[in-house]
Amino acid sequence: MISSAEPLSDENRKLIQQAFGVPPRNNYGCSEGGVMGYECNHGRMHINADWVIFEPVDANHKPIPAGQLSDRTLITNLANRVMPIIRYELGDRVTLLPEKCDCGITLPLIKVEGRTDEILRFNSSSGQLVPVLPLALWSVVKETPGVLRFQAIQTAPAELKIRLDAKQSEECDAVWKRVYVNACDYLTQQGLGNVTILRAEELPMRDPKSGKFRNVWAEKF
Ligand SMILES: [Zn+2]
Repeated sequence: MISSAEPLSDENRKLIQQAFGVPPRNNYGCSEGGVMGYECNHGRMHINADWVIFEPVDANHKPIPAGQLSDRTLITNLANRVMPIIRYELGDRVTLLPEKCDCGITLPLIKVEGRTDEILRFNSSSGQLVPVLPLALWSVVKETPGVLRFQAIQTAPAELKIRLDAKQSEECDAVWKRVYVNACDYLTQQGLGNVTILRAEELPMRDPKSGKFRNVWAEKF
């Protein structure tokens, strides 16, 4: 079982293992870079450094040293001789790890954290812009008991709309109350007690154009 194109959560990893009886291997790739990384049998992501030059950088394209989280990533594809891809910017935030992997493969290790353009930025009551990482919000909602699926969408500078689907449909209202309290608590801890949290009338759904199911994003407003 090989997973690609979307982050593989621990939860999905467990589900796939249960359903198919084999552990899934995660790939890391994109259209411009091809398969840039793959997971070894120690469960760590190695970069295909002979295929792609991989440069973790800050917002000004200055190199980020190993061990520190980058703001974005530049890739140069060494295999595509038809369409040159040179220092192409990916919004992916990654950490290049300084250590070697015990599996014996000497290709560098990375951790992929997500995309810069997915970070939500809310206005606090003092007018400050406060970043909220999608993964943090994802954990808060997804780990609320009774939640089957959800989508959290920033719809205004201080407004978050949540689409919710409960494991037991008759418990949806009770689950919503828990989600609401947890999301409020979390945002308040970030200094964002002023953010309004709304319950969407519609259920979570795939993006009609891409067909992808996203959990957290910001609408243009
Ligand atoms: Zn390894």
